[in-house]
Amino acid sequence: MADSLSSPPLTKDLRRVLIDADSISRRVDELAREIDERYKDIEEPLILVGVLKGSFIYMADLARKLTIPHIVDFIAISSYGAQGDKRGEVRLLMDTRENLSGRDVLVVEDILDSGNTLSYLIRLFKSRGVKSISTTVFLDKPERHEVPVDIAFMGFDIPDVWVVGYGLDYKEKYRTLPYIAEMYPQK
Ligand code: 5GP
Ligand code: MG
Repeated sequence: MADSLSSPPLTKDLRRVLIDADSISRRVDELAREIDERYKDIEEPLILVGVLKGSFIYMADLARKLTIPHIVDFIAISSYGAQGDKRGEVRLLMDTRENLSGRDVLVVEDILDSGNTLSYLIRLFKSRGVKSISTTVFLDKPERHEVPVDIAFMGFDIPDVWVVGYGLDYKEKYRTLPYIAEMYPQK
């Protein structure tokens, strides 16, 4: 899938390009059309809630391709491991600006791994009385699921490897690569 124009040279940490920039862009287009279709009769603007930091590039690309009325908002949560949190534990670090009560909400996430993050967010938003909640996730690691989560708009299935680029980092590195790359396992 990689081509030399959209894929700058790999560094020593990166094994291979999994999804190149052109494939990303085509898939985001398709997802935007699906989301447009699903929400075409929406009464109030759809609230897109991006999960920081990983989703910020997918959010920017997706939101610019939607034709339905929408609002962009963000939420930040702690990810397991980052501060020595217990696996599966999710903490809210920064809340949305919008009041989600009575609104149609689409959670925008970079990657689905165990499913803990999204199941926490779906529970949280339901408890706030949203009118509807659904999710879009750019990447999915099906082998890693621990809790079932219903994803309405999914970008790509990938194997159980650590990936970076297109918003995803390794210790804050490689987040702004224009493609998705697989890392060599780190010590
Ligand atoms: P879950 O709660 O589904 O286990 O975890 C999802 C979160 O784990 C993602 O939002 C992301 O922050 C992180 N994550 C899982 N796999 C990867 C990966 O391969 N690369 C990066 N950069 N983050 C990942
Ligand atoms: Mg994330």
